[in-house]
Amino acid sequence: MSKIIVAGAGHGGLVAAAHLAKNGYDVTVYEKKKKGTVGYDWTDAFDRSALTFAGIELPADTKLYHLHPMAFYGPSQKVKLIAGDSRGEYSTNMDRKAICKLLISFAEENGVKICYNSEVLAPIVEGDRVIGINVRSAGKIKAVCGDLIIDALGCNSALRLNLPAFMDMEGRFNRAEVFYSYRAFYELTGEPSTEYHENHFFHNYKPGLCWFMDYPDYCDILIGRFDPFTDDDVAETVAKFRETYPELGTKILRGGQHAIIPIRKAIGRLVLNGYVAVGDSAAMTIPLIGSGISNSVMAGKMLADSVIAAEGVTDVASLWRYQVQYFKKIGAKMAKIDKMRELIGTMSGEDVDFLLENGVLTTEDISAATGGGLKIGVPQVAEKAYRGKSNLPLLGKFALKARQGGVIEAHAANIPEIYNEKAADAWIQKYRTI
Ligand SMILES: Cc1cc2nc3c(=O)[nH]c(=O)nc-3n(C[C@H](O)[C@H](O)[C@H](O)COP(=O)(O)OP(=O)(O)OC[C@H]3O[C@@H](n4cnc5c(N)ncnc54)[C@H](O)[C@@H]3O)c2cc1C
Repeated sequence: MSKIIVAGAGHGGLVAAAHLAKNGYDVTVYEKKKKGTVGYDWTDAFDRSALTFAGIELPADTKLYHLHPMAFYGPSQKVKLIAGDSRGEYSTNMDRKAICKLLISFAEENGVKICYNSEVLAPIVEGDRVIGINVRSAGKIKAVCGDLIIDALGCNSALRLNLPAFMDMEGRFNRAEVFYSYRAFYELTGEPSTEYHENHFFHNYKPGLCWFMDYPDYCDILIGRFDPFTDDDVAETVAKFRETYPELGTKILRGGQHAIIPIRKAIGRLVLNGYVAVGDSAAMTIPLIGSGISNSVMAGKMLADSVIAAEGVTDVASLWRYQVQYFKKIGAKMAKIDKMRELIGTMSGEDVDFLLENGVLTTEDISAATGGGLKIGVPQVAEKAYRGKSNLPLLGKFALKARQGGVIEAHAANIPEIYNEKAADAWIQKYRTI
């Protein structure tokens, strides 16, 4: 029986683990946290059709929270764009710990073993194959070997970052490819002032995206920045939010945690001999906003299906099937959105105000981008050029990124279906550089 090691109890890793165990594979997950502590202490929105895709049923008594309609502001806050909700009828907002508990139960019911308090340190590589991992548990380091190592360790994966250079895996993500984030629920100390999920691009002219939401008994805050920030910055941002939303109290009720979220296109090389990346480790979030639960869950199912179809053969050529499915179904669309994220990563707060205040970036663009269906073609760019004619250099960049978006989407969807080293390498290098 093939032995599968899942590094980290990430969402996609757990889904893959469950389906592989159900099909007779010997699967063990190594997770650094203690039992019962996996997941963040807040609620998250995601598309629950991903659970259906992965064959997971949401229990009837699951507590769901209200999903607010989206509004967007630039740093001047002069224009408020209200986005048509592109999230669809299957969007759900629920406690993250409950999502993780659901995935863990699904994995365990199917026979997966989970080792908690086990920190994955680095990959073990022999020749051109990843054959195992080093794990620290109870103060001791041990080597664990398997036929396939599934990397579900999240954004700064200790496996992805420690693979040897000749394996040509993406290393640390660049500036504006991750959000340094802080999330907390604060006490609500007055009347709620908004029914919207209020997104602020470059809040207080700092590059990134922050949000504010009122609930009946708390306020939900996210601070997402392209650059690292301290607790003093958190206090300053919360105080600034309080000027706009006076109901925002000072007491933290839940969360209050810093974390890193990838906000870029997926890495170009998802598979090696004996190794595969899934979820945040492979940057499978929606670029710009960093939502990645649904994409990770779906990728986990595609991964298990590919391994099962290959009857447990885990060389790069067999695992490539997973990479093809991911890019055709999800990755190509995300790569297109990533071009807008790249553009925003080079902009100033004043540029963001210009695009919003002159109607260059519209409600349709933003809601389509965050939902994955961004459609910016020549007619749309011409219309924007007219509206934005007083800042032609910025418009030029916008037009370039819109064009590149179409090119990268087509390239990503045209991934070679059958693995051939030369063709796969050429596809990966082009995908990385478009
Ligand atoms: C503030 C914030 C808000 C977000 N909001 C949303 C949202 O509303 N909707 C949405 O879809 N997504 C949201 N996301 C993104 C979402 O969290 C991820 O895309 C999703 O969790 C998929 O990531 P993952 O499961 O691959 O990795 P992770 O969730 O990072 O899980 C990795 C797991 O590996 C473990 N681990 C890490 N390192 C080691 C190690 N060395 N050894 C052993 N175990 C290790 C971790 O403890 C963790 O359990 C948000 C993220 C943040 C930080």
